[in-house]
Amino acid sequence: MSKIYNFGAGPCILPEPVLKKASQAVINWNGTGLSILEISHRSPDFEAVVQKTENLVRELLQVPDTYSVLFLQGGASTQFSMVPLNFLQGKQRASYLDTGVFAQKAIKEARLFGEVEIVDSSRDKAYNYIPCRFEPAYGSAYLHLTSNNTIEGTEMFSFPKTAIPLVCDMSSDIFSRKISVCDFELIYAGAQKNLGPAGMTLVIAKNTYLDSVKHAVPSMSDYRVYRNNLSMFNTPPVFSIYVAMLNLEWLKSIGGVDEIEQVNIAKSTLLYAEIDRNTMFEGTADPEHRSRMNITFKARDLEIESAFFKMASGHGMVGISGYRSVGGFRVSLYNALPIEAVEALVELMKVFEKQELRAVPLVSKSIIK
Ligand SMILES: *Cc1c(COP(=O)(O)O)cnc(C)c1O
Repeated sequence: MSKIYNFGAGPCILPEPVLKKASQAVINWNGTGLSILEISHRSPDFEAVVQKTENLVRELLQVPDTYSVLFLQGGASTQFSMVPLNFLQGKQRASYLDTGVFAQKAIKEARLFGEVEIVDSSRDKAYNYIPCRFEPAYGSAYLHLTSNNTIEGTEMFSFPKTAIPLVCDMSSDIFSRKISVCDFELIYAGAQKNLGPAGMTLVIAKNTYLDSVKHAVPSMSDYRVYRNNLSMFNTPPVFSIYVAMLNLEWLKSIGGVDEIEQVNIAKSTLLYAEIDRNTMFEGTADPEHRSRMNITFKARDLEIESAFFKMASGHGMVGISGYRSVGGFRVSLYNALPIEAVEALVELMKVFEKQELRAVPLVSKSIIK
């Protein structure tokens, strides 16, 4: 089989050693003679997996002891309603920064629970930047942010300092760079962008913030229920947690978040430089807010766009089409994607440009004739 480069936006590429260990565990996990898919989640062996995954999250992101690390289900989308269900209900309003399609979805859900104040929006420019001068509304229950806008290809590199609790959707850039957990009251992330396979959602929350909830919350939506039950109030997504653990072990083995951040800077810088240089393509996000995870760009025209799609897929490059409502190209450079894949793509873009430039003079010659 020839090499396949997976630039997909999610579920994400996972490191080969992780996939190998995971597939072995599906047959016979840890010499138990049982598949990881059929073990009891109440077994001490699996409890150790959950504990280890939590420890790795804590170590890699330097999570303070005053925070809980929880594993939930329902994807990041469930957090869109779980956050206001816990923290907005009974309060007046919450503030949201509208930076893209996923922020919009979070806003829509929050409106079911209270008043939503959109503190600023980049909708005016198709979400191609991050608004920087905004103030959360006075008395807000929290300010909700999206650190990386997976669809539009923008990323927040600084976060506001405010007395209002910060809640952040970090689905598509968690573990890709250093963050300061104590700047936030609650962080959530669907696993399948940079953490593991789909099925698990990571929540990191300040204990005092969780304890500030005074009204009754249904058990499955109550963060404290997960905290009090080692994330096993009901059957957890066993396999998804296990593979996330393997992936975090891999991340630790290559030097952790500090190291991967440098790699991610190198990969994205390489690709953006080519997009800016190449006369066939054009970046879509404001250069100051360009995401290192999801690189969005367009071709000069639609004909060129489809020609490049064809060429890329002929070279085993998959997952490079833009989100269905946006179009163009979106190339995702999650942690497990090796820099060689970016180098191969950049090389192909150069070849493509040469080919197109050669074709153009031919056309003009035939016109002259
Ligand atoms: C993918 C994504 C979501 C939705 O995640 P699900 O796990 O599919 O619900 C939400 N927010 C961001 C930033 C995402 O990238």
